[in-house]
Amino acid sequence: MDYQTYFADALAKLRDERRYRVFADLERHAGRFPRAKWHCPEGARDVVIWCSNDYLGMGQHPKVVGAMIETATRMGTGAGGTRNIAGTNHPLVELERELADLHGKEAALVFTSGYVSNQTGIATIAKLIPNCLILSDALNHNSMIEGVRHSNCEKRIFRHNDMGHLEELLRAAADRPKMIVFESLYSMDGDVAPTQAICDLAERHGAMTYIDEVHAVGMYGPRGAGIAARDGTMHRIDVVEGTLAKAFGCLGGYITGSTQMIDAVRSYAPGFIFTTALPPAICAAATAAIRHLKASSWERERHQDRAGRTKSVLAAAGLPIMPNDTHIVPVFVGDPERCKQACDLLLEQHGIYIQPINYPTVAKGTERLRITPSPYHDDALIDELAEALVDVWEELGLPLNRRALAAE
Ligand code: PLP
Repeated sequence: MDYQTYFADALAKLRDERRYRVFADLERHAGRFPRAKWHCPEGARDVVIWCSNDYLGMGQHPKVVGAMIETATRMGTGAGGTRNIAGTNHPLVELERELADLHGKEAALVFTSGYVSNQTGIATIAKLIPNCLILSDALNHNSMIEGVRHSNCEKRIFRHNDMGHLEELLRAAADRPKMIVFESLYSMDGDVAPTQAICDLAERHGAMTYIDEVHAVGMYGPRGAGIAARDGTMHRIDVVEGTLAKAFGCLGGYITGSTQMIDAVRSYAPGFIFTTALPPAICAAATAAIRHLKASSWERERHQDRAGRTKSVLAAAGLPIMPNDTHIVPVFVGDPERCKQACDLLLEQHGIYIQPINYPTVAKGTERLRITPSPYHDDALIDELAEALVDVWEELGLPLNRRALAAE
């Protein structure tokens, strides 16, 4: 048996479909974000990163870096095992308190990633509710889809953000237990869920609600608790899930909610029980980031300002920005080959790093560049990005909106 041919064939299929992924070898410079070194075959080159999900640059914040170093020096590196085996390190206890407070919930539970929080969190919660029907938004993230799948519960998919469809499905489910699973901010299009309407429907039909705030925590709401906090619905949502790896600049994920629910997940979730806990230094760094962003609005305001300016400058240059009201700046390409070529040209000719977004992350034919400005992308960097993109668009023969150019 030549087992290697199976792998080679699988990879060849991805290459044929222009979906084979290549990761840039990057070295970020703390204190000089978004600048980094790109280790390419010809040597090391300076580049500017335009696609990081360290949205607010907290991964280089002195308080966060300081907390990590200080805690590692004092308490060592690893957690020493699962929490069942090795107990809970104290910074993890403090982190869970901080998260419960952030979301105004009784309790929080931390996992090793946002992915695991959804996968094991949704599965465990739904499994613990007899005859639970899960109502899941059509554009939910893969981690949520896996959570729904692992629950082995019956599911219905409602059309993305379509409240009429959700209501229809809720009504058809009548009296049985139900859980609505959705994101607050969908990270590829940058659109937002109608949390008010979802809560209204959930209350009217007796459903539980589970929201993924991964792309909103730290960035929205007066203390960075997310979209539901901004929209005044957080207290109406049963489970708020988030990540420590994006706007909080660290690693890990969590759910928050009632004491009973959190204790039940702690006691039953395999993805919590059978894996090593987050190290103390990561927990302390995440707590420092959350505390800082609860008190400081500068990062949130500057972030929105930078996203707004990036959108205006790129639109004025005639680039096909996909409109939304959030910090995500998607630029439509609509073809996997040219999407990859555009990214290669940006990196090689302009020192700009943007990862191509292809199927299955987005639907075929909607391939795009996903640009994420941070508080540290200044006017000059935005102008350079627009010029580079126009150059690449012209080189690849991609359409530019000439009317926007003429108006300028
Ligand atoms: N939920 C959503 C909506 C995501 O986009 C992601 C990752 O990008 C996750 C969950 C997983 O979070 P993490 O990166 O912390 O594993």
